[in-house]
Amino acid sequence: MAPTTGPGHVQLAGRTVQLAWLREHSNQAAPLFARARAEVGNAWCLCRRPALRLVIRCTRAGRYHVAGWPGDGDQHDPSCPFHKLGPGLSGRDRYSTQAIRETDDGASIRLATPLTSSLTQPETHDAAQEETGEEAGARRSVGLLGLLHWLWEQAHLNVSHPQAGRLTWRKCHARLHQQLRETTVNGQDMDEVLYVVPPFTAAAADANAAALDTFRARLGRHGMSERRALILGQIKEVAPTPYGVAYRLAHQRTPLYARAALHTRATGSYRHALGKTATEHGAATVALFVVERSPKGHLIAVDLAVMLTTGTYIPADSSYEVVMADALAACRRAFIKPLRYDTADAVLPDFVLTDVTPAAYVEVYGIHGRETYDRRKAEKREHYQREGSRLIEWDVAQPLPALARPGQRGSRPHA
Ligand SMILES: [Zn+2]
Repeated sequence: MAPTTGPGHVQLAGRTVQLAWLREHSNQAAPLFARARAEVGNAWCLCRRPALRLVIRCTRAGRYHVAGWPGDGDQHDPSCPFHKLGPGLSGRDRYSTQAIRETDDGASIRLATPLTSSLTQPETHDAAQEETGEEAGARRSVGLLGLLHWLWEQAHLNVSHPQAGRLTWRKCHARLHQQLRETTVNGQDMDEVLYVVPPFTAAAADANAAALDTFRARLGRHGMSERRALILGQIKEVAPTPYGVAYRLAHQRTPLYARAALHTRATGSYRHALGKTATEHGAATVALFVVERSPKGHLIAVDLAVMLTTGTYIPADSSYEVVMADALAACRRAFIKPLRYDTADAVLPDFVLTDVTPAAYVEVYGIHGRETYDRRKAEKREHYQREGSRLIEWDVAQPLPALARPGQRGSRPHA
């Protein structure tokens, strides 16, 4: 019999339900949500005792969902979908409430890239919106990489847990889609302006093609404005064309075209994700594109952010981190990959191990001789020592260190 409490279970108006069921049947559960909101004011997460409060939200479209209580993320069990790393362990901390806002309706994102441009007025440059505000240097808008990392973090795709099973693109798509339905970007519903490439099956091929056509029809000139949108998918291949490149995506036949200059810039900015070694060790490359429609109806990428991940979509900053993440998963460790968002110089641990208390950290040292980099690593090391946290270090010139949890037997049969 399935347990009635524990991670993945919530209590709503006195009833215990599985979160997965609730997410799939939010319409059916609407009366329960409404009662819980009116009579209790919140839902409860049953991952720990005592139970933890959850926010009940209702989108403008009238869709209910539950979300983690602000600031409570690190109190949830690490395997709970509402678990979040504590302060200082995510690039998310750097944004003002103008950039990322969570309200009773859901989350709203202010993206630095405009998705609609007026054909009557000259376009304002993106960088103009990147000014910093009164919240002590907090960013007032979110860049493309920031949005990609935010979505990954919200969908818990940067979390590896031995009980969770292998992450596939199908699971990524389902979780991301759930998140899109609860979010607006620049005032528009995110599930309308962001297309996550659906997993391919022969049975779904026609429906997927129709969905892409609907999405494409939204793009381009409508009245006096030109519409862009976002596509999130896995890059399978970058093929040269007479004008630049074609990004071929996994699970989708239709490629995205881009000018050579954009691809050259992206290769410089996302060296590890688009470089020659990216596909080693079974790694994957996930990208968020800003797309336009060409006069002939082709999808044209005009900007992109790229993220290197393991074969199971755990983000990694280098191919060495891919090796480390896979090794941690093979040792059945529970861990989280902290994400830097748009802040290139954010000092975050490479991985956080959540199956020990206090959490332990993993650092992968791949670059030598860069003074600022070495100094920052030394500072981090001191910081962990002060905190009394265990630190596992791997200098990539050496073999991998022992990664098993203290007291854990090396090769227990899997559950
Ligand atoms: Zn929980």
